[in-house]
Amino acid sequence: MSRLAVVGSYNASMFFRGERAPGPGETVIGDGYWLSAGGKGSNQAIAAKYQGADVGFVGKLGADAFGDEAIAMYCRVGLSTDLILRDGSAHTGVAGIFIDAEGANRIMVCPGANLKLTAAEMVDGARGAALAGFQLENDLSAVAEAICALRQRGVQTLLDPAPAAPLPVEVYQNLSFIKPNEHEAAALTGIAVQGADDAFRAADELVARGVGCAIVTLGGGGVVAVGRGLRAFVPALDVRAADTTGAGDVFCGALMAGIVAGWPLLASIEYANCAGALSVTRMGVLEATPDRRETEAAYAAWRAAHG
Ligand code: ADP
Repeated sequence: MSRLAVVGSYNASMFFRGERAPGPGETVIGDGYWLSAGGKGSNQAIAAKYQGADVGFVGKLGADAFGDEAIAMYCRVGLSTDLILRDGSAHTGVAGIFIDAEGANRIMVCPGANLKLTAAEMVDGARGAALAGFQLENDLSAVAEAICALRQRGVQTLLDPAPAAPLPVEVYQNLSFIKPNEHEAAALTGIAVQGADDAFRAADELVARGVGCAIVTLGGGGVVAVGRGLRAFVPALDVRAADTTGAGDVFCGALMAGIVAGWPLLASIEYANCAGALSVTRMGVLEATPDRRETEAAYAAWRAAHG
């Protein structure tokens, strides 16, 4: 059993680039296509693996070519496939992403097999882990049930509540950690979050609902953490952002890696903040995910600058 179980989604992301995206009833000829691995669960498991964590990905793929390609990719990056299930009755999750000349995108996700992952399968895959990480790209009621069941079995639980959705009250009570970005924190609490002061208010509300620690990321505006003895603001690193896609997944993967390594919570957050910053300096998601050596160097420099 891995120390860290990341329960979540995999999507094969197909990017179509052209002068403009097609409108209703229209066909346009594009000038670029590429395929890349996506899905928040998969991205976070890989980000944690790159940080050297003992991690297993609990997910479900279809019995199709995109599923085979995902397995081959996990083998390439060295992530165990032991906890990955296949389902012949559904397709592997896919996302179609149309990007126009301005860089604006339109995305359609068909979750397929991701929605077939049951609560029992989630619990089975994560049982015995020190920490189980979730997001909201699987069946919401299955995620809610698995979080409660695992917490009651003594497993620490972390939720990245993305995409944001209303959560049953017992989910908050069974979360050791929640890690929304500012939009998700606002959607969950009803508090408009624009900056650290608002983020502290939203984090206080999440802790009042029963979460152990709320960690609200504010992109280039820093990170706020409340709970488990912390009331902290961590400033963002001053970097030139080239592509912020997937920064939250990299942050979350590195945060979970720090927690299961037994580091103090604040150090884990600071470390994740460095990993997130490194990722935004590069294009793509997997291609932009930093490894441990690079993140440790950035963290050492950050610590030297921040005492
Ligand atoms: P999400 O990708 O979920 O919207 P954020 O945009 O809050 O999440 O980014 C997650 C983390 O990535 C931030 O807390 C920070 O550590 C890092 N990050 C994101 N954008 C920047 C930026 N412009 N400069 C420095 N770090 C950033």
